[in-house]
Amino acid sequence: MIDLFETKPRLSERGQQMHGLIGELYPICRSITGNGVRRTLDIIGRNIPLTRHEVPTGTRVFDWTVPKEWNIEEAWVENSRGERIIDFRNNNLHVLNYSTPVNKTVNLAELKQHLHSLPDHPDWIPYRTSYYKENWGFCLSHNQLQSLPEDNYRVVIDASLTDGALSYGECLIPGETEEEVLFSCHICHPSLCNDNLSGIALMVQLARLLRGKTLRYSYRFLFIPGTIGSITWLARNEAQAARIKHGLVVVCVGDEGPFTYKKSRQGNAVIDRAVQHILGQEGGHFELIDFYPYGYDERQYCSPGFDLPVGSLSRSSHGCYPEYHTSADNLELVKPHSLAESLAIYLQVVDLLENNSTYINQNPKCEPQLGKRGLYRAVGATAHHAFDEMALLWVLNLSDGKHSLLDIAERAGTPFGKIKAAANALIEAGLLSHE
Ligand code: ZN
Repeated sequence: MIDLFETKPRLSERGQQMHGLIGELYPICRSITGNGVRRTLDIIGRNIPLTRHEVPTGTRVFDWTVPKEWNIEEAWVENSRGERIIDFRNNNLHVLNYSTPVNKTVNLAELKQHLHSLPDHPDWIPYRTSYYKENWGFCLSHNQLQSLPEDNYRVVIDASLTDGALSYGECLIPGETEEEVLFSCHICHPSLCNDNLSGIALMVQLARLLRGKTLRYSYRFLFIPGTIGSITWLARNEAQAARIKHGLVVVCVGDEGPFTYKKSRQGNAVIDRAVQHILGQEGGHFELIDFYPYGYDERQYCSPGFDLPVGSLSRSSHGCYPEYHTSADNLELVKPHSLAESLAIYLQVVDLLENNSTYINQNPKCEPQLGKRGLYRAVGATAHHAFDEMALLWVLNLSDGKHSLLDIAERAGTPFGKIKAAANALIEAGLLSHE
């Protein structure tokens, strides 16, 4: 059995590495298409092997069309004294993402029609997009908005919206079977850390950890722009989507909030049970929410024509933390120790999926005599999970070819790791074998 346990010092080192990667990606202005996405994929590709795809503008993907590609050089607003009062160089959230080019002088009233701010958080800059409706705009703090005097303002957005491509990347780590576990994150947000750079960093780390291991499942890591990216991937891989047996959308894994698990549309898939079991055994508070057709790319994976067992495991969830989609979702909001904790949970989920086999008790008529096999009072088979006698008895009793180790762990109310250690010991003693 594979063991994906990481020691505390190693996890904390990985937390620092993830935070470092977030810092490297933070300054890049990303969107659903364009060179910011490509630069992001360049950096991911330096860490893990990445297959890159460019899907041309105009390509039909189910009911959608790959949009024009957006790129931006500079953007600013200048007052009549020639002072730049808003500058994209200071913060790329200042520009309405996907703004059309503009170069003109406007009065305050007209300018205000194109300004976005957050009255409830007057120091923060909001993140706003206009992907599918051509528009231009700037985002700024509410305090700054309120301080703007009557004046003539020169507005310049040097952006282009032209035929190009939608870029995405994928990393496949092959296992013994073609059955896949999917990890998916969006890569379209500009300087925002928890949503969504934390997801990218965790997936990179997870892929690095799984590479080179002997795995039962194949692991597919998708780095895609939100919504249009998952729709594009599903449209281009419709036939092979059925290989996906378990999946998670990885997002908002770096803040200090409690874990949140949003179930797949199926609601009781193995991935749903696996995550609930692990979070439950951790003992901390966590939120469990039923699938709803909003949020991130699980909306597409769980659309009725696919209905894949894909949930979403995050800390603070979509839209539910004040810093969400604002300049306060920054490098201070995400913590190395939170990233490390999230990685540890994801590793436990993978460990469970990999080891969740169904066995047959080779001595099913009454209990085997464990003492003579040295199994009573035995000390753990792995460093972190001592198996106990109750775990041995549960595994023996329920290993009738109909119950997986997760079934047994749930019924026994025992951590999966202990059930796994007990099964391992019973296999070594010849008391358990594969179906
Ligand atoms: Zn978002």
